[in-house]
Amino acid sequence: MYTTTKIALQVALVLLTFSPMASAVTNEADTVPTVHPEAAAEALIDQDTVAMTGQKTEVAATATDESALYPMSPERKAKLISYSQFKNVWRFVSFFIGIGLLALILFTGLSARLRDLSRRVKFRFFAVWLFWALFSVVDYLLNLPFAIYRSFIVESNYGFMNQTFMEWWGEDLLGLLVSLIIGIVPVWFFYWLVGRMKRWWLAFSIGTIPFVVLLIVIVPVLIAPLFNKFEPLKDKQLEAEILALAESAGIEGSDVFQVDGSKQSTKINAYVTGLFGTERIVLYDTMIDNFTTDEIKFVMGHEMGHYLMNHLWWGLGVAIIFILFTLWLLDKTIHRVIRRFRTRFRFEQLSDIASLPLVLIFAFAINFVFQPITNSASRFMERQADKFGMDITGVDGETAATTFDKLSVFNLSDPDPHPLIEFWFYDHPALKKRMEFARSYRP
Ligand SMILES: [Zn+2]
Repeated sequence: MYTTTKIALQVALVLLTFSPMASAVTNEADTVPTVHPEAAAEALIDQDTVAMTGQKTEVAATATDESALYPMSPERKAKLISYSQFKNVWRFVSFFIGIGLLALILFTGLSARLRDLSRRVKFRFFAVWLFWALFSVVDYLLNLPFAIYRSFIVESNYGFMNQTFMEWWGEDLLGLLVSLIIGIVPVWFFYWLVGRMKRWWLAFSIGTIPFVVLLIVIVPVLIAPLFNKFEPLKDKQLEAEILALAESAGIEGSDVFQVDGSKQSTKINAYVTGLFGTERIVLYDTMIDNFTTDEIKFVMGHEMGHYLMNHLWWGLGVAIIFILFTLWLLDKTIHRVIRRFRTRFRFEQLSDIASLPLVLIFAFAINFVFQPITNSASRFMERQADKFGMDITGVDGETAATTFDKLSVFNLSDPDPHPLIEFWFYDHPALKKRMEFARSYRP
């Protein structure tokens, strides 16, 4: 959702929530990380978070002519190609828009002005919070036209959108509010450390672990329900089959939920999230409406694989190391830039809260350049989960391959992207590879 969230939670500071684990069943992560309620979930398909706009999770084709969607018509194939091309271009466009707007806030001295304003508040903590809030709102407003274009207009044009503009915007604003409340934690912690110690990047990376873990614990029970309704599976027959599957895998069955993803979008997905008692496998209603029981069971098997192989923890580990590296590199490079432009910026030190937009620019850029590392780790875990899904369900290769094919068709996800695009941006293997694997794998 909105830029600010991604700012707060991910970038600078809590890259964790998004990095290798945030994605859903889908394949692609966007260039500029975005946090959404499902952040820190391990999904199965192609939950294509939308970059600058921070759009929410998208789901699959339900309401209208679903029967017409699969198998794919030539018209839909053309749509798939154009949507994929758009997304590929947008990965770069959104990156530069994000950086450009932050640079605008910085070079116009606006950031320094917001700092001056926030200094009128007496207690330092509340002054930092006020700055965070003002900055978030400014950044949100500057990004809004692009967010509307990407997350509302384009999604509507491709037939995914199930919300009116006001519904969409209302949720986007709710996301901003969540970000204003949660984001202050990493922001405050960051500036508290930077002024106090030399190896702040090490202290931040380690100190932020409990916060991120807490976030993963509370997101499914406190934050995600603000946007969607989670309930036990309505289809009791399906529920019984999934519970039996969960039992054979050694998972408590009550942890499987269905979510009304169709409220926002027609896209299809499923994911795993939560820790310490809030763990759950979440299945989108759009998948229930469009997939056969065997296909859904395979998807559930995949999610159970993430769950049982502790991919959330592994993802967290990768993310922490990535944050550590990002902040170390940032510390090695950012001071020179501050010295060079201090008159323009109107701040002299990294420890000045007005430096936040610059910190985010560095974090975005470092993330953009080095995301193949985290994405490779994520793709590795996805392959393991696919294998697990086939093992535990004993599904035949053709059914598993059809599942991936449907995901591609319903979500207009390119099954066969350019290898470089996949390497750089995809946190799931390309669907074509997953199909080939499914057809050739013998459990
Ligand atoms: Zn997965």
